Amino acid sequence: MPDLPAETDFVIDELDAAVEAHMNWTRRIVRCAVLRSTPGDDVLDPQAHTLCRFGGWFAANRGYFEMLDPDATNRVDAMHRTMHDAIRSICEDVMGARPGCERDLDAFEASQSELLGLLARFKTLILARAVRLDPLTRLPGRYSIESDFALYQKEARRNRTLLYLAIIDVDHFKPINDTYGHPVGDEVLRQLADTLKRTLREDEPLYRYGGEEFLWLLKCKSAPEARKSARRVLATVGSTPVQIDDGEILRLTVTLGLALAGEREDLASAIKRADMALYDGKRGGRNRYVIADS
Ligand code: GH3
Ligand code: MG
Ligand code: MG
Repeated sequence: MPDLPAETDFVIDELDAAVEAHMNWTRRIVRCAVLRSTPGDDVLDPQAHTLCRFGGWFAANRGYFEMLDPDATNRVDAMHRTMHDAIRSICEDVMGARPGCERDLDAFEASQSELLGLLARFKTLILARAVRLDPLTRLPGRYSIESDFALYQKEARRNRTLLYLAIIDVDHFKPINDTYGHPVGDEVLRQLADTLKRTLREDEPLYRYGGEEFLWLLKCKSAPEARKSARRVLATVGSTPVQIDDGEILRLTVTLGLALAGEREDLASAIKRADMALYDGKRGGRNRYVIADS
């Protein structure tokens, strides 16, 4: 999934705080103009948009927002900067006892309005995503794959990078259920999902595809890089024991089937090829990855 940078509640709180802070600018500018009081050094700094709390937070989580909507992410950057530049210019005029420019006020109003609209859009996207999370693993389910795949495919075409689709299937999972019971099987899946999430990059979405199968979208520059990432997944899963009741430890392995997505290939076809590669991996002995022929 593109996993959330943190819990959904936390992200929503940050967005709400950003909306409030940036709505408050109207009041702060009026106070500055009426009282001729300095709005503060950080506001007058040429890099004010990066000093503002929201600016820092948004930059730190940029990959996540890009995954949700790359165009809107760029617009947030642009509007946030335009808004802070206009605020600085207005406040400098006030502090310098000069008449202000109508152009600055227009830029302030337009950028503030667009920024607030964009933040509302992200809030809707994030909440819509949260309700689609699989309750067991907190990963997005199948529902999100189709649109994310199309987005990543487009990005790969634009950036001339590669997009791999991987199916990760737990080896010999049924005996875990049979031996320890279904609730323990659930706990194993939960812990495995956490391990995988920690291993993958923030911009490499992971989904719960089915029972003990996960789907991973992997962006990379070359086939060797894809192989290295697949080996990393195998190594991490193999070296991360799963703790079950009474301190007992289980060791898991997974098998990966990967397919390099064609520039215009549809999702169903890429999944089918990854699934066939997975099948080859199972037949070949498991705990390995296989890349489908392109
Ligand atoms: P292989 O190495 O060939 O993949 O063998 P396997 O045992 O992992 O595969 P198989 O397809 O035979 O069994 C998968 C099992 O996963 C069967 C099903 O009961 C179990 N399963 C599917 N979803 C869940 C779930 O949400 N929780 C639990 N506990 N078990 C699940
Ligand atoms: Mg399976
Ligand atoms: Mg399995």
